[in-house]
Amino acid sequence: MDYDPDNIFAKILRGEIPATRVYEDDDTLAFMDIMPRADGHLLVIPKTPCRNLLDASPEQMAAVMQTVQKMGRAVMKAFDAQGVTVQQFNEAAGGQEVFHLHFHVLPRREGDRLRPPG
Ligand code: C5P
Repeated sequence: MDYDPDNIFAKILRGEIPATRVYEDDDTLAFMDIMPRADGHLLVIPKTPCRNLLDASPEQMAAVMQTVQKMGRAVMKAFDAQGVTVQQFNEAAGGQEVFHLHFHVLPRREGDRLRPPG
């Protein structure tokens, strides 16, 4: 499947639409999800074009997963979380809505429930 350079996250990377950026390095960006399903819900994306997991290079996966780990540790502290859920969707049938690779990082507490999407 093709990569659409005008997808929403590509526009965020180019600064064309706003996002609450929480972490950035040479290869990745983390920002708050606009419709959080838990307090502190954020997304981690590669800075280079990548449609989803099925399209990712080993380098993109390594960089993104290092940032996912960093963000998981950070939200544990920042949101006094007791755990972290990491979610990721591929293609429309797999639940993907924005076609630029992203991982959801969701701080969790015992007995909580994720809010429904949207
Ligand atoms: O299902 P998928 O993981 O592709 O959903 C896209 C996610 O991107 C949703 O959680 C949505 O809230 C988030 N989003 C965002 N900022 C936007 C557009 C979508 O955080 N401008």
